[in-house]
Amino acid sequence: MKTFDEDLAARLIDLREQGLYRELRRVDSAQSARIQINGQTLLNFSSNDYLGLADDPALKAAAAAAVEKYGAGSGASRLICGSLAPHHELEEALAAFKGTPAALSFSSGYAAALGTICALLDSNDVILVDKLVHACIVDAARLSRAKLRVFGHNDLNAVERILRWAGERHASAAETAIQSRTLIVTESIFSMDGDQAPLRELFELKEKYGAWLMVDEAHATGLFGDRRRGLAEETGIAQKVEIQMGTLGKALGSSGGYICGSRALVDCLINRARSFVFSTAPVPAAAAAAAAGVRFVQSEAGEERCRRLWANVAAVSAHRALARKGSPLAERRGKTAAIIPIMIGDEARAMEMAGRLREEGIFIPAIRYPTVARGQARLRLTLSAAHTPAEVAQMLAALDSVLNSSPPC
Ligand SMILES: *Cc1c(COP(=O)(O)O)cnc(C)c1O
Repeated sequence: MKTFDEDLAARLIDLREQGLYRELRRVDSAQSARIQINGQTLLNFSSNDYLGLADDPALKAAAAAAVEKYGAGSGASRLICGSLAPHHELEEALAAFKGTPAALSFSSGYAAALGTICALLDSNDVILVDKLVHACIVDAARLSRAKLRVFGHNDLNAVERILRWAGERHASAAETAIQSRTLIVTESIFSMDGDQAPLRELFELKEKYGAWLMVDEAHATGLFGDRRRGLAEETGIAQKVEIQMGTLGKALGSSGGYICGSRALVDCLINRARSFVFSTAPVPAAAAAAAAGVRFVQSEAGEERCRRLWANVAAVSAHRALARKGSPLAERRGKTAAIIPIMIGDEARAMEMAGRLREEGIFIPAIRYPTVARGQARLRLTLSAAHTPAEVAQMLAALDSVLNSSPPC
C-alpha cells in the first residue's frame, strides 16, 4: 500500500504527464502593469485588475487609514463580535453604485456564490447554469442540492426547454404543497472567453416562466454601462434582476465579493448564507479599499480609466483583424471585453508559448483544464487601463513573434 505522500506524488506525476501541473510564481512587487518575477521585470497581461486600481494611491490610502482606525484584523464573524463600520460603508457605497435597495459583502466572490445559492435553494428547486460559468457557481449549485441543469453556452432554446420541464415538475410538486423555485445563473462577461451572455433574452425567459435570475458581473462591474454598473445596466435590465453578484477583486481593485438586490434578499443572506455567517469578516483594510474602488469607478477619473482600457482593447482588436489568417491571434471571439483568449488547444503547447512570452518579458498565462475544457488550452490575455499604448504595442510584437515562429500543431 502507498504511503500518504506516495499516493499524492503519483497524482502529481499524472498531472505533469497531462501537461496540467500548476505551480506558483512568486511576485516581488505590487500587482500592476509591470511585475517582478525571479528578478525579471515582466509586462503583466495576466491580471483582472482592469482599471489599474490594485496599486492605486487612493485605494492604498483608504486601506492604510482603515488599518490605523480599525486595526489589522476583524475579530470574528460580523454576527458574533459586531459589524465593523468599513463593511457598512462599503455596502452603502455598493448599493448606491448599483442602484439597488441593499448590498452585502463577502470575503470573496467564491464565498458570495456559495453562500447565496445555498441560502436560496434546496432539493425541491431547479438551478440552470450556463456550461461556461465559473467553478464557484457549479460548486454552489451542487452544494445546494437543487436539481442542476447545465445548458449549452448561451443556448436560449436549451434554457427554454429546461424551464418548461421545470414548470411541469413544479406543477406536480405543487399538488403536495411543496413550494419550488427555479433559478437561472449566468455570467455577464464570461471569464475565460470574454464573450457576453444574452442578458435581455434570458431576462425575458425568466419573466415568461416565473424563474429567478442571478447575474455574475465579475468581469463587467466597473466597466460596462453608462454608470459602469455592469452589463445588466447596459442591457437595461439591472433593476429587474433578482440577484446581482460580483467581486471586489477585479476592476474594483481590492478583494472580496458582493451581492446586490432587495432588502429581503440581503436580510435572508445575513441569516442563511453559511459562508457569511460562519466566516470571519474580511479585514477592514479590504473593505475600505473596495469602497474607495467603488467611489473611484464612479468618478471622472474612473471614466477616464475606462476610456484608456477600451482604447487598449481597440488596439488589440485592430491588430487581431490584421493578423495572418490561421494564426491563433486572428481568431475573433469576445468582441469588446478586456479578456482576449488566444486559442491554442494543446495544453503543453500553450504552456510552452507562455514560457517563450516570458522570455520576451511578457506575462500572459496559459489557461488549461480544469479551468477550461480539455484540448481548449489558451493564452488568456487581459488588458488594463494601466498599460500604456507603447506597452500594448510591445506585447503585440512579442506575441506575433512567438505565434508565428512556432510550428503548427
Ligand atoms: C473571479 C470570479 C469569481 C470569484 O470571485 P473571487 O472574488 O475571486 O472569489 C466568480 N465568478 C467569476 C465569473 C469570476 O471570474
